[in-house]
Amino acid sequence: MPSARNFFNKQEEQVIIDAIVKAELKTSGEIRVHIENFCFGNGLKRAKVIFKKLKMQNTKERNGVLFYIAARSRKVAVLGDEGIYQKLGATFWEKTVNNLINQFKENKKADALANSIIECGSQLSSFFPRSSNDADELSNTISY
Ligand code: CA
Ligand code: CA
Repeated sequence: MPSARNFFNKQEEQVIIDAIVKAELKTSGEIRVHIENFCFGNGLKRAKVIFKKLKMQNTKERNGVLFYIAARSRKVAVLGDEGIYQKLGATFWEKTVNNLINQFKENKKADALANSIIECGSQLSSFFPRSSNDADELSNTISY
């Protein structure tokens, strides 16, 4: 398994950032991606820690979504803030994570993540449409 920094190459990184930008054109929801090497416990629990660390709870509508990847530990979690988590329904989050895990195995990591981000954006758009004065509340770059 590659390290967090090598999980995506530069080109793939750009594909993912473009997907975030595109997804956020439809919704006020804010999507972020965080990659680290190890997660020894529960992926979702760790994602909650990262979520706070990145101050993702500071969106006006509490609609941040974090895609969390522990590269060497092979763990993936997708966490939505309280404004969203229930609205999209437990199945949505489970399906998203399972799709990612399956496609990561097939080595279609960047495309899989980009597609999930776009899909997440369109799901979010029905609950949180983008307004004309939308601000980019959270950075679209991948954090490590
Ligand atoms: Ca925004
Ligand atoms: Ca953003």
